[in-house]
Amino acid sequence: MLERPLAGFDFASARVGPGGCAAATGRIDDVDARSLHQTIVLPLLAGLLWLGAPHARAGDVGTAGEASNFLPTSTIDVLVVYPRPAAEHLASLIAWNRAWGETEMGAFLDANFARVTQIYQQSGIPVEFRIVHHEAVDFSNIDPNNWKATLSFALMSPGDPIAAHIPYLDVVGPLRELHGADLLIYWRQIGDAGPTSNGANPGGGADKAYAQLTYTGVNPPIAAHETGHLLGGQHQNGVQGTASFSIAGDTAQLREYRTVMTVAVPLGLDAYRYVWRFSNAGDSVAGDNDCSAFSAVLETCHFPDTVSLGDASHDSASILSAMAPVVAGFRSPASPVVVPAAPVWAQGLLGLVLAGAGVGVLLGPQRTALPPALTRRRRTRS
Ligand SMILES: [Zn+2]
Repeated sequence: MLERPLAGFDFASARVGPGGCAAATGRIDDVDARSLHQTIVLPLLAGLLWLGAPHARAGDVGTAGEASNFLPTSTIDVLVVYPRPAAEHLASLIAWNRAWGETEMGAFLDANFARVTQIYQQSGIPVEFRIVHHEAVDFSNIDPNNWKATLSFALMSPGDPIAAHIPYLDVVGPLRELHGADLLIYWRQIGDAGPTSNGANPGGGADKAYAQLTYTGVNPPIAAHETGHLLGGQHQNGVQGTASFSIAGDTAQLREYRTVMTVAVPLGLDAYRYVWRFSNAGDSVAGDNDCSAFSAVLETCHFPDTVSLGDASHDSASILSAMAPVVAGFRSPASPVVVPAAPVWAQGLLGLVLAGAGVGVLLGPQRTALPPALTRRRRTRS
């Protein structure tokens, strides 16, 4: 079967709801379901963590590249599984010249997630993604006909699985433990009859840190987007703006630009592009920047003038910065399960908030002294 890349995929025609990711069901990457978890608990968790966690934001450090001078970089270990032998699975990306010049799976994944790390770090988020392990999986013993599709659906509802999904979760859970992977990404095969788009459990926590990526979804902005969901990022935190800019050296004209968490109805201008950055309050770009259509090859967008990448209402970086050290502690080989727990004082605060206080109080820029109990596990690198 001839597989073709999904370049230029347009969420406007495929999304399941206003602002939602293109997903087969509302349970997959549909943050606009506005569940209690997503609209209250998740921001609340991020807010609590924000109060306790150290922060690195572009506004604090001048340039994103200086972030590591201020904070330890959290390392998030990623396990990637795929449904075919590695060489076979990678072959199409190599043929399409989308494998970063690599011809071996490990080198490709390292190169690709180095770009994902770059997106985070250039956005002032002190984190790196490390491929801790990758392997071909075969769950045909569970279901010889539909396992490739069902695995995706199982990964999207780990907290309340139906009976058919439980055998998959019973296998991938221990696989994560074995390799000490904070996150598991299932890199899918085209035509597997699974969800129509990529998906992740938004801020789902340690036992729900799964994402499924379509075959072309391993590219950096999509991988950043879906891992961003796992770290609590939401579509409405992204930037959707207009500016005059050129793409790959063409003539600059008024176009739409976005940061990577943004999913929205296009503004109706010429071709829009994702700048390979997360929104970050007070941040901006000018000149040449990495950009692309959401699922397409890397291009260069040139912005003659400075354009905003965020404000107080569009600031993914603050949430992701707070969550990065927590997610980095989801799993480790020495101590398999590390679930971030709010300290006693925060639990009391949680009760007050759920009793009626405003969530926004917790999300403000205020700082508090750190109780000793808030020190949490964090893997660092120099
Ligand atoms: Zn999304």
